[in-house]
Amino acid sequence: MTTGSLIVVAGPSGVGKGTLIQKVLAQDPSLWLSVSATTRAPRPGEVDGRDYVFLSESEFARLVESGGFLESAEFAGNYYGTPALPVLEKISHGTDVLLEIDLQGVRQLRDNMPGARTVFVAPPSEEELATRLAGRGTEDAATIARRMAVAHEELQAAGEFDCVIVNADIDTAAEQLLAWIHNRTA
Ligand code: 5GP
Repeated sequence: MTTGSLIVVAGPSGVGKGTLIQKVLAQDPSLWLSVSATTRAPRPGEVDGRDYVFLSESEFARLVESGGFLESAEFAGNYYGTPALPVLEKISHGTDVLLEIDLQGVRQLRDNMPGARTVFVAPPSEEELATRLAGRGTEDAATIARRMAVAHEELQAAGEFDCVIVNADIDTAAEQLLAWIHNRTA
């Protein structure tokens, strides 16, 4: 049996990675999205075990120590990590797995999982990104400022990725991402 691919999607907070991935999953139900663990508080509407596994800092630290994460990182004051077992199991059974993680996580995975294919989702402009983050209404002004500072850094790293998709129009971006996922030689 052939193993599945590990497809790593990154890009600044607010760029629309979540919406893009949901579109791609709806169009190709054979793909499986990894559920990350985080110490961040749930946003309204987020469900434990579906959107994230919400952990305390001590629970998270225990998992880091026991080698339970494929990668993990601190992002804007909270910890995030990819639980290793479910991802490795899916890949070994031939399922293509999507991860949605930050830049630090991508850099760790390049070492831990050299076969991973990486895609960067970019905003049409930094101004547009700021407008989207503010418009989402889920973060306070200080959090938005912190996320914009991280976003500025992350945008400089787009060149490290195997593929860059500009999310100007969500349907076009989803088409491009699906085409890239299925073109295994790209
Ligand atoms: P948010 O708090 O907006 O859900 O996520 C903040 C950032 O953490 C996003 O850039 C998201 O991609 C990233 N992130 C989510 N899950 C993981 C993970 O498991 N590992 C890493 N390194 N970053 C993650």
